[in-house]
Amino acid sequence: MYKLVALLFVFAYSTTLSAQQKQETFVDPCGHTAVLEHLENKYPGFKNAYDKQYVQIVAQGKTIEKRKKQIRDTTYSFDSVFVVPVVFHILYSNALENVEDSLVFNQIEVLNADFRKRNADTTNIRAIFKPRAGDTKIKFVLADKDPDGKPTNGINRATTTVPSWGTNQGINNNMKFTSRGGVDGWDPSKYINVWVCDLSYNGQDQTLGFAYPPFGHPFWQSNVFVSDPEQGVVIHYKSIGRNNRRANNSVLIASNKGRVATHEFGHYFGLRHIWADDQFMANRCLLDDYIDDTPLQGTGSNFTCEKNRNTCMEKNDLPDMVENYMDYSTHECQTMFTNGQSAVMNNALKTYRKSIISATEVETNLRIFDTVLYDRVLIFPRTAESKVVVEIPNEVLESNVSFSLYNSIGQHVIQDQELLSNETLFDVRGLAKGYYLGVIKNDRGEVKTGVRFILD
Ligand SMILES: [Zn+2]
Repeated sequence: MYKLVALLFVFAYSTTLSAQQKQETFVDPCGHTAVLEHLENKYPGFKNAYDKQYVQIVAQGKTIEKRKKQIRDTTYSFDSVFVVPVVFHILYSNALENVEDSLVFNQIEVLNADFRKRNADTTNIRAIFKPRAGDTKIKFVLADKDPDGKPTNGINRATTTVPSWGTNQGINNNMKFTSRGGVDGWDPSKYINVWVCDLSYNGQDQTLGFAYPPFGHPFWQSNVFVSDPEQGVVIHYKSIGRNNRRANNSVLIASNKGRVATHEFGHYFGLRHIWADDQFMANRCLLDDYIDDTPLQGTGSNFTCEKNRNTCMEKNDLPDMVENYMDYSTHECQTMFTNGQSAVMNNALKTYRKSIISATEVETNLRIFDTVLYDRVLIFPRTAESKVVVEIPNEVLESNVSFSLYNSIGQHVIQDQELLSNETLFDVRGLAKGYYLGVIKNDRGEVKTGVRFILD
């Protein structure tokens, strides 16, 4: 979408440019315009063709040369997005607790939107906080293989005779063990386990979800770390997904956009509450959440959305960031993790939970061809035909670019294939699983675009 906008902008710009140049070069007060009008009357369409020709001349003289220069001069970069499989264990003692698949599907959508800053409601973030909104570069997929390698849709349903899992002393982990009436999680070093069950106690919906930080994470004290079988996220069955019809009181209704899971996944990746959980201390503005770009906050929002809330005065004072997923504001209010929180979660995944990464996807940030639409190498290793698609703009074809593919030990798999069309497909079906590097070189043999990806 951004690329399309960029293209339209450039087109408008060059049109303006050529009109201006025409003013300087061609406008002839004694009659050039009149001549054009005359020819147009005589040969309808003449002006249009004339203008087109002119635009081409301008393009040949200026724009294409400029683009060639950009190709030679511009470096590239790319981002890695980590893919993590998730399994939902739906643990139920009655039909209402046996939540429908659609809630799980829309829950994954919410998680992916929120963790990639792709939620539509980022528009509601106040201007002071907008530059702080972050992308964690973590992507969640429903597990497609169970621990035995059998196909699954990532939803594991299990019955229980335990009517609810809440206690008068907060929470317990019994739902995570078949031997205690719950259901064993799948290998926590390969999956994020999410248990969906009744967390109420005495009919009260007191807990909407909980999760534990990665073992050994420096933001936390050792008394919160749990052993492997207890790693994962637990969500109250009335709070799973977006628009859950089971939300039947004001707190549940204020928390019905699927962001209980967003918040709990934040804990799972090491985040603390934005107010640092020191609400009962004498000076609750003393402790920070260890994140630099969240303002100090004294207490959590109480399922409200008060934009003028400001519980701590600080240097260069900012109001409370009620937009943050790690607050207790309403889901309507919650629209962002910060850049700092995103970096902490990404690092926690790479450091403490590395083994759950099932794939790395590459998103190119190429600036080489940034004035044209086809400015990217597209990789589709997962399609049925398994082809690598290399797209380049027509203009670039003139500079004799070639494509090569290397395997993880640097051997050529495809060597210097000249790109003769703006979309070239390379069959990669016979290739072994593993990392590959695709590069585009210019006519001087310089690597201009590099994309790393995984075939699996
Ligand atoms: Zn929390």
